[in-house]
Amino acid sequence: MIDLHTHSLLSDGALLPSELIRRAEACGYEAIAVTDHADVSNYEFIIPRISKACAAASSRNSIIAIPGIEFTHINPDDIMYLVNEARALGARIIVVHGETIVEPVTPGTNRKALEAPIDILAHPGLITEEEVLLAKKNGIFLEISARKGHSLTNGHVARLAQQHGAQLVLNTDAHEPSDLISIEQAKKIALGAGLAPGDFDELLKNSRSLVNRAA
Ligand SMILES: [Zn+2]
Ligand SMILES: [Zn+2]
Repeated sequence: MIDLHTHSLLSDGALLPSELIRRAEACGYEAIAVTDHADVSNYEFIIPRISKACAAASSRNSIIAIPGIEFTHINPDDIMYLVNEARALGARIIVVHGETIVEPVTPGTNRKALEAPIDILAHPGLITEEEVLLAKKNGIFLEISARKGHSLTNGHVARLAQQHGAQLVLNTDAHEPSDLISIEQAKKIALGAGLAPGDFDELLKNSRSLVNRAA
């Protein structure tokens, strides 16, 4: 499994980054990105700490651990600035918390995120065709989510992405150990979103290309 969207106790996850990474490795993961929730209040605090934990884990374990960040409920007009700041601080996978239908994410977040140099737009909800085209144009990956609630619109996201040739990745958005999944479970979630078995291989390839880009 390659999972590029997870949370540690540096935001609202249950585990230390080191334990999250070790548990993922024990589940058979090939790579994990630790992408804690951040807004203007904490990104400068958590990025260097996530980076430290990922560097320590990668030197000791076989799993590839990548420092990241998930900008969450930030002002859409601040996205460009914060993404550039996060890159400079060492975040190598930048996720924006998209317009999921289960939270009051500010309208316009999907669009502003897709105009910024991010890697993944997470759980983009009822994303529009125009936004999907923007994701394709800017090489930003749209997320199929394993998480309760956010996953309600997986079918919509998968259908529009396939229709317009935007690239997809599948992530857990794990907050606790039981949220980590096997590759078999990931495949079932992809099929449940209406994707074909061959499309799942494509999703894995997309995740691998992001890992290579971040390495
Ligand atoms: Zn999120
Ligand atoms: Zn998340």
